[in-house]
Amino acid sequence: MKKTIRVLIAKPGLDGHDRGALVISQALRDYGMEVIYTGLRQTPEQIAAAAIQEDVDAIGLSCLSGAHNELFPEVMRLLHERGADDIIVVGGGVIPWEDIPLLESKGIKKVFTPGTPTIETAKFIEKAVNERDGISSVTAAVPPERIDHIGIAVASLDEALPFYVNQLGLTLEKIEEVPSQQVRVAFIKIGETRLELLEALTSESPIASFIQKRGQGVHHVALGVSDIQDRIHELKSNGINMIHDVPVTGAGGAQVAFMHPSSSHKVLFELCEKRKKEEV
Ligand code: ZN
Repeated sequence: MKKTIRVLIAKPGLDGHDRGALVISQALRDYGMEVIYTGLRQTPEQIAAAAIQEDVDAIGLSCLSGAHNELFPEVMRLLHERGADDIIVVGGGVIPWEDIPLLESKGIKKVFTPGTPTIETAKFIEKAVNERDGISSVTAAVPPERIDHIGIAVASLDEALPFYVNQLGLTLEKIEEVPSQQVRVAFIKIGETRLELLEALTSESPIASFIQKRGQGVHHVALGVSDIQDRIHELKSNGINMIHDVPVTGAGGAQVAFMHPSSSHKVLFELCEKRKKEEV
């Protein structure tokens, strides 16, 4: 049996508009949560007291007045003082990106900027509460773990390699052909990351058309992931367009899939899962 998540939506501070708070309250109810709304102009003391009295799982703080940097941490301090650290607190309203790291360092789990779909907020709260309660959620998002490599399109490996190997003094790890992409690839080792120099083998290669359109240069960024199929599924459910719905075999036998740049602000991202056995 699934328990119903209880959320307190609270408006600290002096601003007199609660349309946003009412919208998120309704969205969380529609998602199946129990929502208590405090009404306008609450003090941090009133909010902390109400949250404890109502025994909520989470608090959503909404602030439009610009005083979030004082009010949100004060709510956190009071919850801590009263031994209610287990309550998940998220924030929203008109909050500039610049202020988010500070608020998150004070224990706010997540700050949602204007325009965030309400369903995202609902899903986030559900996941955070489930994690706290030790209920594993099926759709747990695992962020990429590292930059696996940066792909660079070159007209000729023979011409480009001396720069990397002789001028920069980096180590050439291996050169191989990748039939699926019609490319010849040189891997240059740099710490735990690689530079992947890509040379087109045929004029039909994606690298040939890239160079024709945009010239040589940075082509893609590869994000190292585990369970690539799960990651693809998850990104798609978040509305991201994938070029590959199913992973293909890339260099070194890695399983790779590309995201469509229209979904990622024009950067071509590759998801890359290394084959476990052949890792050297
Ligand atoms: Zn790559």
